[in-house]
Amino acid sequence: LGEVSDLQKALQLLNWDQSTMMPPGGARVRGAQFATLARVIHERFASDETGRLIDAAAAETASLPDDSNNASLVRVTRIDWDKARRVPVELRAEMAAAEAEGYVTWLSAKAANDVGAFRPVLERHLELKRRYIGCFPEAAEPWDALFDDFERGMTAAEVRVAFDRLKEGLRPLVKAIAANPEAVSDAVLRQQFPVEAQDRCARALVTPWGFSSEQWRLDPTHHPFASSLSPTDVRLTTRYNQSELGTGLRATMHEMGHGLYEAGVDPDLVRTPLCRGCSLALHESQSRLWENLVGASRPFWTHAGPILREHFPEQLGKVDDDTLHRAMNRMEPSLIRVEADEVTYSLHIIVRFELEQEIFNGGLTAADIPEAWNAKMREYLGIEVPEPAQGYMQDVHWATGGFGYFPTYALGNILSAQIWERLLGDVPTLPDQIAGGEFAPLREWLRQHLHRHGRKFTPKETIRLVTGTELDPEPYLRYLTQKVTELYGAPAS
Ligand code: ZN
Repeated sequence: LGEVSDLQKALQLLNWDQSTMMPPGGARVRGAQFATLARVIHERFASDETGRLIDAAAAETASLPDDSNNASLVRVTRIDWDKARRVPVELRAEMAAAEAEGYVTWLSAKAANDVGAFRPVLERHLELKRRYIGCFPEAAEPWDALFDDFERGMTAAEVRVAFDRLKEGLRPLVKAIAANPEAVSDAVLRQQFPVEAQDRCARALVTPWGFSSEQWRLDPTHHPFASSLSPTDVRLTTRYNQSELGTGLRATMHEMGHGLYEAGVDPDLVRTPLCRGCSLALHESQSRLWENLVGASRPFWTHAGPILREHFPEQLGKVDDDTLHRAMNRMEPSLIRVEADEVTYSLHIIVRFELEQEIFNGGLTAADIPEAWNAKMREYLGIEVPEPAQGYMQDVHWATGGFGYFPTYALGNILSAQIWERLLGDVPTLPDQIAGGEFAPLREWLRQHLHRHGRKFTPKETIRLVTGTELDPEPYLRYLTQKVTELYGAPAS
């Protein structure tokens, strides 16, 4: 397992390099390098030999408590191994090829708003996904087999309950912000901010959170992500926009939240399949917690305001903390998911989740998607989609076969607020600590209650461990209702 982990980290490093450092000339051979490593990893891990080793290890660890590192390692590895063997090698190869082709076609189809060129990409993915789902006949609903790759053991039925409640709770909030678009201005963030100064400022914000140049890197990229080669080698990426400051700061704080999760895993789990975050939703709960619950909170701006004024004396020297806090929290129903605010973001996800349900559990075809998308955007966000590039074609996920993935983002929002309520119960002075620039107690609480477990437990077990309860959208709705009321006025009931 150590060797498989090393090979996976080599693959991750090639990926990080491609997104940050690689000269364009590297692209020609990089695809082959990815494919070779992925094949070697699969052959090593899914082998009969690994199966024999798991059996032998299970016998040796049978008397250990379930939550011990070694018993967990055997339990989780057996599930991974079984899953890796269920899907025929040929199907995996076809899916990988369709991902690469889908990406290239999507780039040109999106640029040209060419629905006809993109439709065969979707049709091909849907056909492959149905074959993939066929490898897991025990799934209660077809879509569950796709979702299980990201949130093991969770189902569409559970997500539907949470999302239906979220949708109902968000509607009056969307109305409140749409009715009062001038209440909050972000004009102070829309000036010229040299990228080098933005980089220094972003580092100054996340350094007290735990960023250190001994164990971390921060590099610019097009689509920010976080990656780690070990808990003491964490790679963050971010994106700066010369004429707008908020995007870069938010992206850096978001990825820092992902990085802290990876950095907090028990060092005893290094070079095992358990040495990473539990699931995508739990990972996203950490990025959203640091980006929003901390980074967009009023106490944080008592600490961060002086840092911004110091880095941008000309642009922000006379701007007070309140104005900066409000500017970071401007909300407005909009077309593009990655630019959406906290209130409308989850509705973008619900649109995608409901369409995926209709595709895999109902009769929606690739040809029906554009019109179905536009109808939902109109109903949930009250906006008209002017062109496919700003509609169903905006994200890369479906173009590369990423079905079953989107809900993890909104589940992360829900979980971030559940964890926050628990945190405030344990550490009532947290807001004062944040205002004073003191983040170690927060980081250590998260490490103790969540990060150190890595991937030892299932998402549902991990949610119970860290929140003391089940998935519950109410804390997130309470948090957003309070925020909208303060900034935009009370929503009509
Ligand atoms: Zn994220």
